[in-house]
Amino acid sequence: MKLIFLGTGSAFTLDNYQSNILIDAPEGRLLIDCGGDARRSLAEHGLAAADISEVYISHLHADHIGGLEWLGLTTYFSGSKDDPSLRPGLHVHHTLVDDLWLSLHGGMGTIQGRVAKLDTYFDVQPIERNGGFTFAGTEFRTVQVVHYYDGFEIVPTYGLLFEKSGLPVFITTDAQVAPNQMNDFRDMADFIFQDCETAKFWSTVHAHYDELVSLDDEVKGRMWLYDYQDGEKPDCIEDGFLGWIEKGQVFDFNDPESFRRMIK
Ligand SMILES: [Zn+2]
Repeated sequence: MKLIFLGTGSAFTLDNYQSNILIDAPEGRLLIDCGGDARRSLAEHGLAAADISEVYISHLHADHIGGLEWLGLTTYFSGSKDDPSLRPGLHVHHTLVDDLWLSLHGGMGTIQGRVAKLDTYFDVQPIERNGGFTFAGTEFRTVQVVHYYDGFEIVPTYGLLFEKSGLPVFITTDAQVAPNQMNDFRDMADFIFQDCETAKFWSTVHAHYDELVSLDDEVKGRMWLYDYQDGEKPDCIEDGFLGWIEKGQVFDFNDPESFRRMIK
């Protein structure tokens, strides 16, 4: 099983595609978030919509869901219209399902001659509280992370914890640093794929490099950084991190060394 970073950039990147990740396994392909760049970033790897068997959605920003209209409509007209078993599986926390459809409804709510729903296009599998899902024999646990507040409440956003071939990993998806709250989950993982903003002006809804750099060396030594802005970046290896993930970088669970070094 491989973890392939189709993109490594922030929401508005022009250089590195949005941070969507592909899990490529003999049993199928799971896309972790599907932003508007997904069709192009997948094409760079020779893949099309029909090659994606399942999708996981962490939260509802467009760099994470903006490609679902492409994925849903393309797979519908190329096969699932006549054979619903060809619909991609859609794993999304149950608290996000209604708002996800609210976001997609304008473009997908009607097909000529019929009214469509989310499950017209996707095999929707809501994730329960403290739950997760199984893909390719691996259990993926969702971890609620702090991304941003809606007034006085945290808007649901979920990272992923899973273990394969003895390698426990944590993908934060979009998240603030939350040093104390996140410690337990960081400690569960040998490798952390960490959201890392590099903008001069902080958005405050993402972990910023200047905050992450103050974490303990032991934690930084397990962190790969992604979701960065275009342009210059600090020397993160000098600062104790494993590295900046490059667009297209592959982490192969059958080659643990690929988690410990840069692959060119
Ligand atoms: Zn976001």
